[in-house]
Amino acid sequence: MSSLDELYREVILEHYKSPHNHGRLDVPDVATKGKNPLCGDEIEISLRFDGDSVDEIRFSGRGCSISQASASMLTDAVKGKSIHDAEALVSQFKAMMRGEPVSTEDWGDLESLSGVRRYPARVKCALLAWTTLEEGLQIRQHNSAGS
Ligand code: ZN
Repeated sequence: MSSLDELYREVILEHYKSPHNHGRLDVPDVATKGKNPLCGDEIEISLRFDGDSVDEIRFSGRGCSISQASASMLTDAVKGKSIHDAEALVSQFKAMMRGEPVSTEDWGDLESLSGVRRYPARVKCALLAWTTLEEGLQIRQHNSAGS
């Protein structure tokens, strides 16, 4: 295992052991749940918005270290972003996991998940939080379009 793999693994384990923004918001604007039956991973994301920005985000769930670490990193990356930027990050992250070239500058800890691409069975674990967030953002857009 290369030293970069080793470093990535440490970052992932750290988020798994001490997840950031963990729990549930008391009064979320939107809450969504996702499951990855292949691995038994579950993620719930609750969101509160301030205008068009993600004001607060929390996640809870259970499953493998990759699924939970990915959710923890996601909350850090998305908190405070506009909905538009959050959606852009979701599609970039998905593209990265498909092996497409994306700029991971300013990604911080998120970059550690790029190593997961080499283990196709685990890609769904890394993506679970992102597809769950994407659904939450779509619900929000749908709701605000009606008001
Ligand atoms: Zn998993």
